[in-house]
Amino acid sequence: MSDLPSQISVREVGPRDGLQNEDPVPTQAKVELINTLSGTGVKRIEAVSFVRPDAIPQMADADEVWRGIERAGSVRYSALVPNLRGAARALDSGLPEIEAVVSASDTHNRKNVNRGTEESLDDIAAVIELAHDRGSTCQVIVSTAWGCPYEGDVPVERVIRVAGRALADGADCISFGDTTGMATPGRVRTLIGEFRSAYPDAKLNLHFHNTRGTGLANVLTALELGVDDFDASVGGLGGCPYAPGATGNIATEELVHMVEDMGVTTGIDLEAMIEAAAAAERIIGRQLPSQVLRAGPRSRTITA
Ligand code: ZN
Repeated sequence: MSDLPSQISVREVGPRDGLQNEDPVPTQAKVELINTLSGTGVKRIEAVSFVRPDAIPQMADADEVWRGIERAGSVRYSALVPNLRGAARALDSGLPEIEAVVSASDTHNRKNVNRGTEESLDDIAAVIELAHDRGSTCQVIVSTAWGCPYEGDVPVERVIRVAGRALADGADCISFGDTTGMATPGRVRTLIGEFRSAYPDAKLNLHFHNTRGTGLANVLTALELGVDDFDASVGGLGGCPYAPGATGNIATEELVHMVEDMGVTTGIDLEAMIEAAAAAERIIGRQLPSQVLRAGPRSRTITA
């Protein structure tokens, strides 16, 4: 275990990626969830996305949510933007960090934003420039990095090429998104290996969904390769738009529970995150998939 990073950075994506894949919840409930998460010790929260309200009604109140939360000085908040227009909205609202997203799969990109991967990359170059002009940072998320619901496997060379183009255009960090939970440890090893050979110094975040139960196994593999930046959603909030009923992102408290016991610190208070997951469950009104939420941490004992 000595090769694992001594600490990792966790970005909580429940309020955005999680809630975007759930039935819409009231604005005030979102604000309270983000405020609760801000008190768990987590240092980064993906709070909202600035998308067209008619396209994604779950995020129609992004401006109100962003204005309504109590921003903690210890937390860096970010927003996902689908295009230049969304980026301008986010930056006008004062977001210090935005995330632009492009799919490595051309078909998935066309279904999502009605244009091919290359056209999206052209737009993202302008998004990055705008973010930098305004003193903010821009991460580029390469989605369907381990597979596409329409095309199946996406060639690793293609994923690397998309990430390389974004880096050449000034992206501050690359995130590989396993949008539909198609990654397995072997595939994680391959993609990270190829990416690190091509771009040894680029900042890298990984975004796993637990759609097929391999989420934490993928994290462990990536940790062993030195990756120290992961997304997770409280309670495992969210789902998969292509697989009704499937689970969402890896659960933040499950990630914290596993890595902290291996000596990898996160800065997150596990009990506080479990309480936040219970709050998320009340907001959503259904049982969330997190097993650490159900069972409690391994350190919890019962009276004999
Ligand atoms: Zn996701």
